[in-house]
Formats: sequence, structure tokens, C-alpha cells
Amino acid sequence: MFLTITATGTPEKPATDLGFLLHKHPGKAQAFSTSHGTAHVFYPEASVERCTAALLLEVDPVALVRRGRDKGRGAAPDAALAQYVNDRPYAASSLLAVALSGVFRTALKGQCAARPELPGRPLPLRIEIPALPARGGADLVRRLFGPLGWDSVDIEPLVLDERFPEWGDSRYVRLVLEGQLKLDDALRQLYVLLPVLDDAKHYWIAPDEVDKLLRAGDGWLAAHPEHALITARYLARHKRLTQNAMERLELARLAEVDGSEPEEVDNAVDEARDTEERPVPLAVRRREAILTALRAAGAARVLDLGCGQGQLVQALLKDVTFTEIVGVDVSMRALNIAARRLRLERMGERQSSRVRLFQGSLAYTDKRLVGYDAAVLSEVIEHLDLPRLPALEYTVFGAARPRTVLVTTPNVEYNVRWESLPAGHARHRDHRFEWTREEFRTWAERVAGRYGYAVAYVPVGDDDPEVGPPTQMAVFTATTTTTDTTTETPKEGEAA
Ligand code: SAH
Repeated sequence: MFLTITATGTPEKPATDLGFLLHKHPGKAQAFSTSHGTAHVFYPEASVERCTAALLLEVDPVALVRRGRDKGRGAAPDAALAQYVNDRPYAASSLLAVALSGVFRTALKGQCAARPELPGRPLPLRIEIPALPARGGADLVRRLFGPLGWDSVDIEPLVLDERFPEWGDSRYVRLVLEGQLKLDDALRQLYVLLPVLDDAKHYWIAPDEVDKLLRAGDGWLAAHPEHALITARYLARHKRLTQNAMERLELARLAEVDGSEPEEVDNAVDEARDTEERPVPLAVRRREAILTALRAAGAARVLDLGCGQGQLVQALLKDVTFTEIVGVDVSMRALNIAARRLRLERMGERQSSRVRLFQGSLAYTDKRLVGYDAAVLSEVIEHLDLPRLPALEYTVFGAARPRTVLVTTPNVEYNVRWESLPAGHARHRDHRFEWTREEFRTWAERVAGRYGYAVAYVPVGDDDPEVGPPTQMAVFTATTTTTDTTTETPKEGEAA
């Protein structure tokens, strides 16, 4: 098992700084004993211009079996021989990740006592792994390393046997990463992604694996498009731990968002892929519930009020029954992100005639909102201060008056089921309130009564027998068709 890390440099910033960063002297070859064999660190080249550190793990297959922990292979009862004859000595599997974290522990933490300024600097790096097991193929390797800031991700599938090309490719690839990254960022990526690609973890999954994953994933994992796959595989598809890690990643994303531009706690995952067994994120289930309700209502022209970054607009566009889709938000930043997500600029004419985004506040009546079949308020009302809520009610139910209005909001009773949410905390720091099922219904009945709508309730997410579903949805249907002209815009703070 082998990998090399190469830095290039200049007289001002010599490549040999790599030695300081790795805490391993470029002039020496060193050996470290690890639980699975011996790890060697040496420098095939070390000049001002170019410095390469090599990590070679000499696996002791007998020790591996004796430890009895190679779950991926050793655990199979009929695999007596495979225990001894396997790819472990050659391929850069999860064992190499463990060696990496042992031998370069301080570098992984981004610490360097001798030269404290070094770890903060991105370096011109080249990392080569000559034989990387890639369950999921070259395509998965690209999906994993592609979004991580490398200038180039070069993947070369390795043939099974050069003498017999017709046998095709093995499941190994040669991987070369090149780009300007901080060394600790690069090492932490490898620490997580080598075992993910190997997908045969050799040690028992202990609860502290979630902590290790989140520590190594700090700053890159939460926003990674494949974070669900990475999490599930890293934790060997252990359901409860994966769930726990996913929640904590979602909360980590929240912490990164600047307070004024909220993103929902459970919007971390954009699209569910069903290639892996994993829970469908709540944000996805919410969108599905909304689409189902809109179709059931026969709505074609739809307002997405407080559309945020446009995930629902995007989903609506995929269904041609929605002929006109309007996203409205008070946040210009959210709308810009939505426009980029939808590729509004590059959209063909037919598509672009179906969709519009504009800025507006739901606290003010707005003529542009009149005349639609349905309006969606998905995770929006809890972002308004309670005294402002009657103004939104009037804007939507009194003035715009679509036949159907869908309102979703967190069910606060469910918060105890979010293991990682400290007791008494809201799901998002911009939530001005979170309601119980009872509170939501009281509000919905009052609004429906005042503005002439009937209301039904739909649980979104698993409906827990004690605390209910994570998200609650109210489906309002107009019972009178005329605009209610007798109702004046309520004053701020006025209860309807
Ligand atoms: N509907 C999206 C986003 C929810 S986050 C989803 O379900 O994921 C709440 C959104 O409401 C934010 O984008 C925020 O900018 C917007 N918002 C908050 N107050 C608003 C107001 N008064 N008028 C319009 N949008 C508002």
C-alpha cells in the first residue's frame, strides 16, 4: 500500500517545507509500527523545487487475521484462505487511512509547532495513489474527489491482467490529484475517502467513529454533494450512526450559514439518490409531499412564497403539469443562488417562459401574487416574528387568495427525536417560533375561518406515535371564490 505526496516550491517557499508540515525529516527514512504492519515514511526526492514524501504500509496479513477485525473479508465464514490471500498488502485501502492518521497525526490536525504559519497556506500539491480500490468505479472516484477543490483529478482504471486485456479492468484505479490545497485538508479528505472507496472497513464501527468522521470532514463534508453516500459507507452502513452523523452534518451546515440568510436544517441534501440504502432526507420528503398535494389540487400556476434557494421551484419545473412557477423571496442572495441553481440564464425559451423569480416581502400586499391556483409556504412562517404573521396571512389568504395554500412548519414536539439537537433548541437559529401540532392547528383553523378556507393536515416524514411527524403541513382550500374585500390589512400585532 502506497501513496506519495509531492509539493513544488520556490526559493522563497521551498518545497521541503513539506517535511515540517508532515513532521518527518526529508533526510531520514523512518518506520513506525502500526496495528496492521509497519508504516515507512521516506522522501524519494527533496529539493527546493520538488519534494515528495512516500508512505508505504507493509501489511502483515497474519497480524490482520489474528486481530480478527477485517470485517470485509475475514468475517466471511467460508473465506479461510481469502483471509491470507487478499489485496490488503497492495491496495490503498482503509488500512492505509489508519496508518496515515497515525503517522501524520499532527499534520492532519493542521498543526506545526516549528512553523505555525505553514499549515494555513495552500500548497501546490500532487498526491498519487498507484492502486486505489474503487468500489463504485472510476465514476465514483470522480464524484468523490471532483468537488473538493483539486485542479485535476486524474483517474486511470487498471487492467486486471496485462497479459489478458480481454479480462477488462480490475476494480482498482491509479489516482493522481493535483491542485493548491492546504495539506491538512488534503490528508483529511484521504482519511475519509480511502475507506469509503474501499467500502470494506476493517475495524468495528464504534460510536466514536461518527466523531472521527465529522472531525476529518470538518469544512468539506457537510457541503459535499455525496455526503450521504460518504457517511453511509464510512460508517459501514450502520443505520443509527449514519442517521446521527447526517443530522450533525445538517446542523453543521446551519452553523456555517450566516444568520441573515437562513437555510433549513434539513435541506442539506439536494437530491436523494437511490443507489445506496439511506434515509431520504426530510427536505426531499417535504418537497414530495408538496408536489403530491399540488397535483391532487389540480394546480397548474403555482407560487412558491419564501422560495429560498429554489429547490422546490426546480422540482416543479420538472413536471410539465405546472405551467407557471413563481418563486418569491425577501432575500436577494437566496434568489441569486436559486437563479444559478436553475441555470435561468442558459434556459431554453420554453422552459424560461414557465418560471419567474422576484424579490418581495410577504408582510406587504403584492398585486403580483394575485391570480394563481396555489401558493406554497414551505418552512417560511416560522421565520417571521409572531406579530408580523397576521400581515402575511392577509397578503396570502386575504389579498392573493389562491384556491389552494400549502403551509409547512416544523413540529416542535419532534425535536426530542433529533438526537444531536440540544434540548430546548430550535432547529434553526433564525426560527422565531416552532409550534406543537396543537398550536399549528389552532393557528390554521383561525386563518381558515377568517378567510374562508377549509383546512386538512398532512404529516411529512415518519409520523412518530408519541411526538408526531418532523414536519407538519396544512392544506387550505378556498370555500368562497370572491376576494374578501371587507377584511382590512391587519395592523402589526393585531390578532385576527
Ligand atoms: N421554502 C424554502 C426556504 C425556507 S427558508 C424551503 O422550504 O426550503 C425561509 C425563507 O423565507 C428564506 O429564504 C427567507 O429569506 C424567506 N423569508 C423570510 N421572511 C420572508 C418575508 N417576509 N417575505 C418573503 N420571504 C421571506
